[in-house]
Amino acid sequence: MKYYLETYGCQMNKAESSALEEILREKAWEQGPADDADLILVNTCTVRATAENRAWGRIAQFAAGKKDYGYSIAIVGCMAEQYKETMKERVPEIDYVVGTYQKQSFGLLLDQIQAGTHYNILDDKPVFQFSKTYHEPGAFRDFVPIMHGCNNFCTYCIVPYVRGREVSRAPADILSELDTLEDLGVREITLLGQNVNSYSWQDGAQALDFPALLRLIAAHLHERHYAKGNAAAQDGIGWIRFLTSHPKDLSPDLIDVLATEPLFCKHVHLCVQSGSDRILALMNRKYTREYFLDLVGRMKASIPGLSLSTDILVGFPGETEEDLDQTLDVMRRVEFAYSFMYHFNPREGTSAVNLPGKVPDKVKKARLAKVIALQKETTGALMRERIGCTDQVLIEGQSKKSSKELVARTARDEMVVFRGDASRIGQFAKVRLAGISGNTFKAEELHE
Ligand code: SF4
Repeated sequence: MKYYLETYGCQMNKAESSALEEILREKAWEQGPADDADLILVNTCTVRATAENRAWGRIAQFAAGKKDYGYSIAIVGCMAEQYKETMKERVPEIDYVVGTYQKQSFGLLLDQIQAGTHYNILDDKPVFQFSKTYHEPGAFRDFVPIMHGCNNFCTYCIVPYVRGREVSRAPADILSELDTLEDLGVREITLLGQNVNSYSWQDGAQALDFPALLRLIAAHLHERHYAKGNAAAQDGIGWIRFLTSHPKDLSPDLIDVLATEPLFCKHVHLCVQSGSDRILALMNRKYTREYFLDLVGRMKASIPGLSLSTDILVGFPGETEEDLDQTLDVMRRVEFAYSFMYHFNPREGTSAVNLPGKVPDKVKKARLAKVIALQKETTGALMRERIGCTDQVLIEGQSKKSSKELVARTARDEMVVFRGDASRIGQFAKVRLAGISGNTFKAEELHE
């Protein structure tokens, strides 16, 4: 049996696609082109209207090809959750709609397709389960989901409605997946959650928050590396990152872990969204600009070499030029290494849709251009300051421009290229940053 998979959206969706592919492999399904597949799988995203429209477009194309190629069509992910009752009415060629809480039935569904019988997954009682592993074969950088869902209800965001309330993954399962990944040669892990800072596990006497989970992971890996006679982690997991951090839940204890434990990369993606208290309140972000700036000040003072990135949303209903100035001011003060910048697009089903004071499209675009220009300036200045520094990098692959060059990334999430051969891919190296080309450092490797 063959499958064809397309994935839209965030890292969480990519990790979940890897988990689905693991189940497909276990059941001896092979990957193939769409016109030769028994099953078309579309893992969808509904966070932005553009991602949703693209997915609807692709689903329509697959539906049109169904009579020629005879495949089944299964839709998974956030759109499947949001439209699970109506999706088949809109596109009758869809065979299966697998909501976020029905993934546990995916293996059963494959068995039914193989047997040529129809399985109605909507009959299953929805329940969320983490997959055993989210590993992508051959990868040396992997995502490990530690949480699912979100309790925050930012007024512009659909996530709490399609992914439900927060569920934390059992620490024993997280450690067990890390062991498996390390044995498979994985060198870098990104712990994933909509808001990792609110990770919370309670099992009898054992209670863990996010900093405690990080300490547990660090102690576990150090013990493992030590037992293998490899205290420096040169052959095992050497770096751990996490995504995404809500500022309101980033605790002093987490700052302490980042300041003291070398396993965790000194780069934090801390979503500010706006620098205006009025807009932050309308967004229901539950912090103020003063709180955010104070938090950043404490983090920078405690964590040497820290780099920060963020998300910025402009053109929110009611946003004035003064509000935008406040956002630009926060950007100047914090000096984010990079930002994901976007303008407000109403998402059906969220409360921001009904807020008054819509900002005209032309104005939204002009404001977005302003934040992009400032970010470009800041990124350039921060990069110039780094010329001459030495740093450790993890080698990701060969450069697209030259087979003699390698592409690597620092712990601060900076892209670096330097001369080297492909046998080094997946290894750590020490480099000196020598120049800049666009958003990438040119470097030379240091051999000690
Ligand atoms: S914290 Fe806010 S923006 Fe992030 S997933 Fe939750 S509701 Fe959405």
